[in-house]
Amino acid sequence: MKISSFVFLLSLIFCTSFSGCDNTNCTETTWYLDADGDGLGDPDVSQIACDQLAGYVENSDDTDDSGGVVTKAVDPALFLTSGVTITTEPCTLSDGTVTSCYKFVTTSVPADHDMGPWCPTNISDDASAGGIWIENGEVYDVDGAFVQNMASFYSDSKWLMYDSNGDIYVTETEADCIAAANPNVGVEYENFCVECLPAYVTSITQTYYIPISPVELATPYTFAMGPGTTSVRGIAFNGVRFDAPAPTGAILGAYTLAPFDDAGGHINHNAGYHYHAATGVSTTYEQTDSHGGMIGYALDGYGIYEQLDKDGTEPTDLDACRGHYDQVRGYHYHVAAPGTNSFINCLNGAYVK
Ligand SMILES: [Zn+2]
Ligand SMILES: [Zn+2]
Repeated sequence: MKISSFVFLLSLIFCTSFSGCDNTNCTETTWYLDADGDGLGDPDVSQIACDQLAGYVENSDDTDDSGGVVTKAVDPALFLTSGVTITTEPCTLSDGTVTSCYKFVTTSVPADHDMGPWCPTNISDDASAGGIWIENGEVYDVDGAFVQNMASFYSDSKWLMYDSNGDIYVTETEADCIAAANPNVGVEYENFCVECLPAYVTSITQTYYIPISPVELATPYTFAMGPGTTSVRGIAFNGVRFDAPAPTGAILGAYTLAPFDDAGGHINHNAGYHYHAATGVSTTYEQTDSHGGMIGYALDGYGIYEQLDKDGTEPTDLDACRGHYDQVRGYHYHVAAPGTNSFINCLNGAYVK
């Protein structure tokens, strides 16, 4: 045998014996054990392979891969410091638990995005001149065409919210804002687009108490209106609240439209700026795994996350409150779709009445 043939043969043997000789169609990856199935791997237990191994993941962020029940405390550092003041106070929760709460005092003025616009001024206006409206799970731009089309949209010829020049009837003063938001709004505001401006609510503050560590209820609390109840669902990291559903039936029944801005918020003279839809505008904390980002806390101290995970799908195991559990985040909620006029359906934890 010639020496060159021998070397060739030798290299063949070595290439079939050792990985790394032929790496043209294989990229080696370090895989970490995910014993508790939360998508996070144990940094201390790994294997190197080209293809993913069963029970292993690429991530190595799991600090507790044993599967113990995780309860996450509220993290006040996630809140914007502008417009939100946080202190600690003793509190008694709705189930009688005596504990500590964070007290949030907020101006309800978001530091992370502008408020408005809400009402376009002419039927020729594009979407940048107005906000949004929500109907049957859908989000609609309130542009000039939407206002022009309202009689057809609602199959009711009484809708005519603009004059012969195409100019839209929009409330103009603070007094209009107060009067048109009244549940018994007068006929003089029929066919008005109602908007209350930030300048009307510069001196408002809101106070919310949230337990530092959530306390799970035996039976979830279903939202109700009236004394001793809470209609507020939670707060965003800018201090703006996720409010009870907007009374769209009463608003439309009075032949008014009170749009939300593109962030899903509008202003009430008493409540200030508040959200009725989570549209992804307010501060969102991306997660290191495939989970949707965090957008705020519910009043029971459990986190609220985006509706969809990074792959664009909603988790399939949500409970009636829109919550579920994982090892990273503990129990938490996924917010409802922006067109539903809703955020979460109930509180799985105790809250401050
Ligand atoms: Zn509202
Ligand atoms: Zn989740």
